[in-house]
Amino acid sequence: MSETTPPSAAELLHLRGRTLRKGEPLALPLTLSSMYHLPGDPAGFPGYGRAENPTWEAVEEALAHLEAAETLLFPSGMAAIAAPFFTFLNAGDRVLLPSDGYYTTRLLADRFLSKLGVSFDQRPTARFDEGGFDGYRLVFIESPSNPGLDLCDIAAIAGAVRAAGGISVVDNTTMTPFGQRPLDLGADIVVASDTKAPGGHSDILMGHVSGRDAGQIAALRDWRKISGTIPGPFEAWLLHRSLETLELRFERMCRTAGLIAARLADHPAATRVRYPGLPTDPAHNLARRQMAASGFLIGLTLGSAEEAERFIAACPYLRPATSFGGVHSSAERRDRWGDAVAPGFVRLAIGCEPAEALWAAIDGALRDQP
Ligand SMILES: *Cc1c(COP(=O)(O)O)cnc(C)c1O
Repeated sequence: MSETTPPSAAELLHLRGRTLRKGEPLALPLTLSSMYHLPGDPAGFPGYGRAENPTWEAVEEALAHLEAAETLLFPSGMAAIAAPFFTFLNAGDRVLLPSDGYYTTRLLADRFLSKLGVSFDQRPTARFDEGGFDGYRLVFIESPSNPGLDLCDIAAIAGAVRAAGGISVVDNTTMTPFGQRPLDLGADIVVASDTKAPGGHSDILMGHVSGRDAGQIAALRDWRKISGTIPGPFEAWLLHRSLETLELRFERMCRTAGLIAARLADHPAATRVRYPGLPTDPAHNLARRQMAASGFLIGLTLGSAEEAERFIAACPYLRPATSFGGVHSSAERRDRWGDAVAPGFVRLAIGCEPAEALWAAIDGALRDQP
């Protein structure tokens, strides 16, 4: 399917074990310390908790393995997204953003970049390459876009952005490194919210930035240390634990989503279904080329806002909640936040329930409509 090589999930489980010395704990210790024992010459030793923490470093090693790139951990997806903006942009620069991607990214540009003299344009993800990339210092890509699940050609766009002298940044939250590898496709930087599937249990916020240019990563590390946008060690420790089962959960979630999307596409209650894995999806051919899986998000459009709300309320195995990627399936009518989607559009985030039990609950709730 995809043209890139997936990360080794087996290797991930043995990263720590390989470097252990006799008597050390197999599980990752949680280090809570702002200060380090540091007499004399400080060079080459951890000095202060805003710059270094061994628990973050273990999580970064795991994520670096998954991304095959140097990785920095941030306290949320938005902190990860803000990092390349504040690190690489100067007054007078122009940025290109998806008009249909994660809303808060546009809000960050509108509220905080523009007053520093950085201007931005927006384009819909499905037509992101129309108009070229000349004059953009940074081009921000989100594919599949959240919540509409449109795609754009990451390799073609990253290549065109580089030729035009800009930096490409891809938000890979909806796919994780197991589903899509933007750096292998030629992007400069990957950002992601690990609050979603990587955390997977709806109990932490976290994010990361990965890249293969040592100079860019050093600059991003300085941004993190100086701005103080650092993750909490306990949340980092929880993410480390979650990453050990990411491949297992993601595989189950995607497989179930594929099954449910196909059945929804044939369901009389569904007006429209978007899922990149459906052969009828407008983005299907591109998805096959650049994604290793089809994801666990489904865009389900029902007849009206009322029908959508009734469906979500009636289904016992859908948590009515914003955000996604947890072990429990969840659903949300995105128009309630003002996203540019139909009033009856529901973002279904498939979790780890056994597929047939989940389908029976979804089908039952759809049939319940008066
Ligand atoms: C959730 C999300 C974010 C923001 O992540 P937080 O961890 O909530 O800060 C960014 N991009 C996408 C695509 C998301 O879904």
